[in-house]
Amino acid sequence: MKMELKNDSKFGDMPVDDFRRYGHQMVDWISDYLNDIEKFPVLSQIKPGEVKKHLPEQPPQKGEELAKIFSDINKIIMPGMTHWNHPGFMAYFNSTSSGPGILAEMLTAAFNANGMIWRTCPSSTELEQVMMNWLRQMLKLPEDFWGIIYDTASVSTMHAIAAAREEAGEKYELRGKGMTGSQSPRMRLYCSEQAHSSVEKGALTLGIGLEGVRKISVDDEFKMIPAELQNAIEEDKQKGWLPFCVVATVGTTSTTSIDPVEKIAKICTAENIWLHVDAAYGGTAAIVPEMRYILNGVEHADSIVVNPHKWMFTPIDLSAFYTRKPEVLKRAFSLVAEYLNTAEQNKVESYMDYGVQLGRRFRSLKLWFIIRYFGVDGIIDRLRYHLKLTRDFSGWINSHSHFRQMAAAPLGVTCFRAVIQNKSDDELDILNEELMNNINKTGKIFLSHTKLNGKFVIRLAISGIRTEEKHVEEAKKLLDEKLKELL
Ligand SMILES: *Cc1c(COP(=O)(O)O)cnc(C)c1O
Repeated sequence: MKMELKNDSKFGDMPVDDFRRYGHQMVDWISDYLNDIEKFPVLSQIKPGEVKKHLPEQPPQKGEELAKIFSDINKIIMPGMTHWNHPGFMAYFNSTSSGPGILAEMLTAAFNANGMIWRTCPSSTELEQVMMNWLRQMLKLPEDFWGIIYDTASVSTMHAIAAAREEAGEKYELRGKGMTGSQSPRMRLYCSEQAHSSVEKGALTLGIGLEGVRKISVDDEFKMIPAELQNAIEEDKQKGWLPFCVVATVGTTSTTSIDPVEKIAKICTAENIWLHVDAAYGGTAAIVPEMRYILNGVEHADSIVVNPHKWMFTPIDLSAFYTRKPEVLKRAFSLVAEYLNTAEQNKVESYMDYGVQLGRRFRSLKLWFIIRYFGVDGIIDRLRYHLKLTRDFSGWINSHSHFRQMAAAPLGVTCFRAVIQNKSDDELDILNEELMNNINKTGKIFLSHTKLNGKFVIRLAISGIRTEEKHVEEAKKLLDEKLKELL
């Protein structure tokens, strides 16, 4: 189809008629892409530098036809795509988009609203309030949990640590004097050895330093040992540290282990320490009634993060953060420039007051689309299916003569490795890594790994909205086939 070129005009945006035509083409392209996704290798098979090789070093001086830009998507971009939407994506924590999520993202870009304060987009502020309330009910969190949307769990957790620091540091005037100017004792934060690196990154960002993070050992199920936490806090207090924050994890990154939040909360309450729960991946499973137990004890926590962009079919990014102490979070961050003062500000929420960023995307729109389109029941059904597929796969691993499950699989991830008689641990590490790489080279299934007690372990994660039983069967077939080739 030949398009009339109008982008040579000196002023203004793309003509709306062109936008309409290209927009229809784009939606057609996306529909075909989602329909045919299994024709693409799930893991990009290119070498480093191959995308850049096809891109000019200088920007074009004159505007180009959109049709030409479109065709470069297929030529240049697609080979370098690892397809997170592919049903064979079983690496890391697979996060998939969904039809309603993609459509809502189109609207978010179209509106281009910046919801920094209520009047700059009342719909953004109010929809966010209601969506955080809907999700709070779905997770069965207490009513006094106040919610805000950040981009990622890393940023949510950083804000939790900042609020914890504000609460503990208030009497040392930390907000005014800063970490180096105040007379505060050195501050210590606790998390398990299995906690996500974002906890340490948050501590780095906030001037707590890596020495300010004390890792608590885990039991043989990779869960934080509460008695060890208690001992660490006691020891630190005696040595003059100021314990200020504990991060418990519901669904750790390596094995999806679940820290005993209830017991940890008891310690935090007694010691008056902020408890943040990192449920970035695992929290979503609590929407399933028989899985709600994973959040037991969270009602005693000060804050929690759950990422709908991980396991709730929401295009990245959307991280939901809840706290029972929004006033502390606000105290940590609120700074209102004169030009942002408005007549209604005492009656409305200004989300800019609760974090480092001023500008904010209209992210709640996609949550609204997704929760309404699938319904709570539809979301539960899909999560339940993933949990069942995982149980079935773990069962297969357990009954297999060459594979051994290396950690419990309470959520959507199975950790396992091939164990062959008369092979040393080092030999098995190499064998398992080769096995994983050979499977990933097929482009049909994408797996990732972790290390548990020093051993190379393969992870198979099921949380993709397009993943069905036949894809798990394919993974089993490849595991058998590729292991046979290696033996
Ligand atoms: C994925 C994950 C994170 C980081 O999430 P981002 O949104 O990518 O920052 C943190 N903690 C846990 C437990 C996670 O699974």
